[in-house]
Amino acid sequence: MFSPFGELLPMKFTPSLPRVVIVGGGVSGTLVAAQLLRRARHPLHVQLIERTGAAGPGVAYGTRCQDHLLNVPVSRMSALPEEPEHFLQWLTARAGRPGFPGLVSPRDYVARHLYGLYVREVLSAACGTAAAGTVLEQIAGEVVDLEESGEELVVRFADGRALLADRVVLAIGNLPGEYPIPRPLPFYQTPRYIHVPWRGDALDGLAPDDEVLLVGQGLTATDLIVQLARQGHRGTIHALSRHGIRPQAHRSEAGTRAIADWEDVPPTIRAWTRRVIDEIRAATEEGEDWRGVVDGMRPYTQAIWQSLSWDERARFLRHVRPLWEAHRHRVAPATAAFVDQLAAEGKVKFYAGRLQVLEADDRGVHAMLRRRGTIQHVSLRVAKVINCTGPRTDYTKYQHPLLVHLLARGLIDHDPLALGINALPTGEVLRYRGAPLERVFTLGAPLKGVLWESSAVREIRVQAADLAERLIASVAAVAPAENRV
Ligand SMILES: Cc1cc2nc3c(=O)[nH]c(=O)nc-3n(C[C@H](O)[C@H](O)[C@H](O)COP(=O)(O)OP(=O)(O)OC[C@H]3O[C@@H](n4cnc5c(N)ncnc54)[C@H](O)[C@@H]3O)c2cc1C
Repeated sequence: MFSPFGELLPMKFTPSLPRVVIVGGGVSGTLVAAQLLRRARHPLHVQLIERTGAAGPGVAYGTRCQDHLLNVPVSRMSALPEEPEHFLQWLTARAGRPGFPGLVSPRDYVARHLYGLYVREVLSAACGTAAAGTVLEQIAGEVVDLEESGEELVVRFADGRALLADRVVLAIGNLPGEYPIPRPLPFYQTPRYIHVPWRGDALDGLAPDDEVLLVGQGLTATDLIVQLARQGHRGTIHALSRHGIRPQAHRSEAGTRAIADWEDVPPTIRAWTRRVIDEIRAATEEGEDWRGVVDGMRPYTQAIWQSLSWDERARFLRHVRPLWEAHRHRVAPATAAFVDQLAAEGKVKFYAGRLQVLEADDRGVHAMLRRRGTIQHVSLRVAKVINCTGPRTDYTKYQHPLLVHLLARGLIDHDPLALGINALPTGEVLRYRGAPLERVFTLGAPLKGVLWESSAVREIRVQAADLAERLIASVAAVAPAENRV
């Protein structure tokens, strides 16, 4: 039968069910699917599309390295806001099994890949308890376009397939980082440059004595340093960032400080910087740790961000961001101690500065950087350069066909700072110039411009549960599909 949409994927389930399509099967997409299955009381067809074919772990928890640890203690990593101890209980029930720790304490930082397993099991448990007629279909594929067609949405795949949806959730998560030197360079096309550090093959071809340059010093660079060291790498690891600020370590006894009267702080970066400095000073005088202040702000961070004008938000990005990120996104104490020890032994060298030259020749890569605040240049000879600048936050420059098409169709817009997709704080995506699209939603990292604090499990699990409730309410009004196609 001719279809104006191309080859439509055959419906595996009753065609009259309302259809929610989730693009992206990382933690965000998987938890929306799980919450839909847990909460729907009327028949619903949920389709979860993941390009890797394996929904659950996403970028962060798909690592195979046992030494990549969660950067949050076990007690705070439940995937379900309604069951805060859920991850702790899941892990405790498996303690002592092969691949699991022998004993589990709420303050432990466990291997990240275990969390990927956990999220997958949350999804399969939700399938098992879903109401009659509510079904999940997992689809492997890369979504490259989304179009409106009357009351429906057409979701198109890279291989030419398409499917129809009533609601779509863009759970596309973290985008790869910016180029280390932000202009097109032939070097980026060579095998000596790795743009996506989370790929399983990022370290392939590296000999144990090769020197390597990591561009970035944050959590991604920390991952790679740990991974290289654990696999017996002997060559020097160089790590460069513009400010030379490395992630701080957690301290389990730090506690959380109550931040009084935060609503009274004027909505400017200057006022907030002053308040945070004063609060840390007071905490220190009272024998508390600065970490308690940063963690104490967490429940209000989204509200504070939304109270700031876009100019003030831009001021934060220019002046405060690197310092804030290093103190807010901390690493497990064991990881920090291990990296410090490698640095003390000269196995890892950290630099603050800007990359100026990246050239490949038959002997490897010539990299030249200028040290921050000086005219001093450092030349390095390395075998590989790995981009660890962290997830990208500039939607104007990202070239994935799905985003390019959505932007070109005016179905999405980036927020004024291009940190993510322009949307309501509740995830309803806004068209170009502002009107809600009503049938398309997002959560997680794409909401960074709107909420700032939006990419960790603590925020994502709440967004996923709330979004599932709204989707269920909104598809209740959808007419049966046989009356529409
Ligand atoms: C290295 C690292 C470590 C982290 N550690 C922690 C931690 O310990 N604790 C914590 O709370 N947070 C941590 N985070 C934050 C992390 O971002 C979130 O916890 C969470 O994993 C984000 O999930 P996500 O689904 O939003 O994004 P992602 O993990 O990026 O998943 C998005 C998924 O969508 C798929 N996808 C994207 N586009 C398409 C498309 N067009 N078609 C089909 N599929 C598509 C991708 O393949 C991917 O699987 C970490 C982040 C990173 C990068």
